[in-house]
Amino acid sequence: MNKDWKIETLAIQAGYEPENGAARVVPIVQSTTYRYDDVQSVADLFDLKREGFFYTRLANPTVDAFEKKIAAMEGGVAAVALSSGQTANAFALMNIARCGDHVLALSSLYGGTVSLFTNTLKKAGIEVSFVTPDMDEAAVAAQVRSNTKALFVEALANPALVVADFEKYAKVAHDNGIPLIVDNTFPTPVLCRPFEFGADIVTHSTTKYIDGHAVAVGGIVVEKGGFNWSCGKFPEFTEPDESYHGLVYTKDFAAAPFSVKLRVQLVRDYGVPMMPFNAFLASLGTETLPLRMERHSSNALELAEFLKNHPKVSWVNYPGLADNPENALVKKYFTGGMASGVLCFGVKGGRAAGEKVMNSLKLAAIVVHVADTRTGVLHPASMTHRQLSEAELEAAGVSPDLIRVTVGLENIEDIKADFDQALAMA
Ligand code: PLP
Repeated sequence: MNKDWKIETLAIQAGYEPENGAARVVPIVQSTTYRYDDVQSVADLFDLKREGFFYTRLANPTVDAFEKKIAAMEGGVAAVALSSGQTANAFALMNIARCGDHVLALSSLYGGTVSLFTNTLKKAGIEVSFVTPDMDEAAVAAQVRSNTKALFVEALANPALVVADFEKYAKVAHDNGIPLIVDNTFPTPVLCRPFEFGADIVTHSTTKYIDGHAVAVGGIVVEKGGFNWSCGKFPEFTEPDESYHGLVYTKDFAAAPFSVKLRVQLVRDYGVPMMPFNAFLASLGTETLPLRMERHSSNALELAEFLKNHPKVSWVNYPGLADNPENALVKKYFTGGMASGVLCFGVKGGRAAGEKVMNSLKLAAIVVHVADTRTGVLHPASMTHRQLSEAELEAAGVSPDLIRVTVGLENIEDIKADFDQALAMA
């Protein structure tokens, strides 16, 4: 791999370098285990003395190639692919914080992440509290506690479409010696590379644009490298791990201590890796990601402009619109000012009228998903965010009438015509 390659080249070439006569496309290594000639070889693998594969719960060649591809695209040193985006976010935090610790998070997050933080991690003794996007640096810093171990934000919030002001959050995190974790699912590394703006860890639901065809659930955690885990706040990184013969992650795996620890502790013990076939599909999807993100973004912008001018539409939220409050941050952080393929809008007449429009769409389907080739719609308050309280809905930027559109790659004239005929029914 050439380190100067641009993102379009990395999306295709990074992660897999076939040897003479080997398969040109990364093969699906659908094998649980791997054969060795002697006992010592396997013992060395178990002791992490050499790299290789011994059991697919921990590592697999197809998954490994995908991890290397995404790490290269994000500009990180290593990545660990997991069974879902939920696992990626859970493990990113659990790798750093333990029972009795605290994590600060931005309030505008995907509903499943809020639920993970406020229910499941809470039960495990990790407390997550929230700051709102309008809080300035001093106000955010005031929420950091002595036991705060990370700051977590979503690059482009689902579905609030708030853009995280990375530099603000990176400053607060680093002033306090803690890492900034960014869920970069919606922009993908094609539109935004959070490591360039101070993030230390990036997560993805690869289920979304990275796969891009709605065929494989998956997640990934990427490590930038270079974070100072030795400041005294993270003893699990700097003290011997008795479950691994006393190895010290910052000493024995100095280049990528976060990723090695996540794999050999959390993936080993909870056992939720990405499966080889899903890694193959996600890898194939990634090859066209740069092209797709351009078209998703231009189609979304055109649909947003169309809806904004439609007499039956009461409001439109798309950060790519020049008059959107998030547009300045899109221009600052996102490649070419492109704002990805998701927009939200409300119909005059509120929730009931909105439901009528959704039921009348013919090309756009009602789906609990975003970010694939097909246009789809969803009503978060009654679907993805159903478990959230009124207050949590408001904090997540979800109004009762909000319709979320995932704008696909169909011809934009056909997409607009579909919304036009459905709005006529409201
Ligand atoms: N993060 C974001 C921003 C998401 O939109 C989602 C799912 O919609 C997730 C995480 C969870 O990902 P998954 O559904 O792959 O578990």
